[in-house]
Amino acid sequence: MRIALLGAPGSGKGTQAKLLADRYRVPQISTGDLLREAITANKQLDKSVREDMEAGRLVDDAVVLKLLEDRLRKKDTKRGFIIDGYPRSIPQAQALDALLGLLGKTLQVAVNISVEDEVLVKRITGRIGCEECGQIYNKHFSTPKVRNKCDVCSGRLVSRSGDSEKTVAVRIAIYHENTAPLITYYRAQHKLRNMPAKGNIAEIHEKISDIVDIEIRPLEIKTLETAAESIDEGDSTIIAGGQINRITTQSSRTKPVKKTKSETAVLASSAGAKKNAGVQQSSDESTKKAERKAGG
Ligand code: ADP
Ligand code: AMP
Repeated sequence: MRIALLGAPGSGKGTQAKLLADRYRVPQISTGDLLREAITANKQLDKSVREDMEAGRLVDDAVVLKLLEDRLRKKDTKRGFIIDGYPRSIPQAQALDALLGLLGKTLQVAVNISVEDEVLVKRITGRIGCEECGQIYNKHFSTPKVRNKCDVCSGRLVSRSGDSEKTVAVRIAIYHENTAPLITYYRAQHKLRNMPAKGNIAEIHEKISDIVDIEIRPLEIKTLETAAESIDEGDSTIIAGGQINRITTQSSRTKPVKKTKSETAVLASSAGAKKNAGVQQSSDESTKKAERKAGG
């Protein structure tokens, strides 16, 4: 699956991207994280990068695009990705379309998480994140169990440098001027899905997962490698049109395939989608081969 999450700073892109990445086992690619990592790793970046981030301005397009391209070229994006924080302007969206076209990985859906400006201020100024694992919390809305300690890994929780009261207004203004026009851009491509961020984190996650389960997964043909260390090469699970087919080589050990909640949802909701998926399935030579191999 290839999804971009759009929305103002503080709308919940990072929070939702992490949940989706865990659920569907694809990497989360956050340009904000890539920039912070590059700064921490002392990559040869112009000092304006740090200054722009601290002031809440957009970083130079070429710098962000290079980091994104390097990340998208990594092998783990083969099954898909959730991009958050990019694009943030029409030129960036055009650059992303060109890059993904070149890599043969066009975007399927852009989910726009919409939140009122007043809520964003509290979300941004209250945001704290784990230094170790990146888990996101909020001083007002989603506090950790122990103050300043990550629930997941016990790492220290810190604020981001650009999250001060001073920069919030700048960031929101930049969002309205540069980023909000992307709604029209992706609507024109029929890729926009609007997600009013009403409700808590879990509820919004379920709503976005519904889009993935109903619109993307049934139309995708996926080969999931099951537990690499316990299964021989050639042993895989194909999910196509809502059906899960286990393909097992003679020599491989049989292990029960644990269905995730979303896979179960795919099966349940796939009746209508099967027809479409069948079209794609029949046009995909490799899937036919796999089906013959499975004796189906
Ligand atoms: P973005 O990546 O869009 O800038 P984040 O995912 O970092 O936004 O979320 C910003 C802050 O808002 C975080 O502190 C997060 O815990 C909090 N947050 C995210 N979604 C919700 C929600 N639905 N309700 C309340 N707080 C939320
Ligand atoms: P984020 O973590 O998404 O809130 O991003 C933090 C900061 O990184 C932003 O305020 C920008 O300064 C910079 N940044 C992240 N993504 C982009 C992007 N796509 N284009 C330009 N600057 C970005």
